[in-house]
Amino acid sequence: MLMRLCSYPGCRECIPMGEQYCEKHRAKAVQYKERNRATSYQRGYNGAWRRARAAFLMDHPLCEECKRNGRLTPAVVVDHITPHKGNRDLFWDEKNWQALCKRCHDRKTAKEDGGFGNIIS
Ligand SMILES: [Zn+2]
Ligand SMILES: [Zn+2]
Repeated sequence: MLMRLCSYPGCRECIPMGEQYCEKHRAKAVQYKERNRATSYQRGYNGAWRRARAAFLMDHPLCEECKRNGRLTPAVVVDHITPHKGNRDLFWDEKNWQALCKRCHDRKTAKEDGGFGNIIS
């Protein structure tokens, strides 16, 4: 009979070809996969945002708010002009983004959210 290793990370148990996990890990692996699905989804979402934000800051290296006040300050955050409040369309709409420095962003979010901050950006 053809044998393979159990798919559970770190397990070296030999199991028949066609099986996924050894006896011991079959139940555990299901839980493991369930747990991983949520986090990898979140990781993908955050990863996509991190990449989009980095690209945006590359194109908009200076703080928009400071620029309006005649100052040149390196931007470090991408702010949502209209708070997205979890709205995906608003969140991913580049026209709703502006590059801000930390100080301007903090000042803006303090005004908008009563000081709780904008966690996602
Ligand atoms: Zn195993
Ligand atoms: Zn600024």
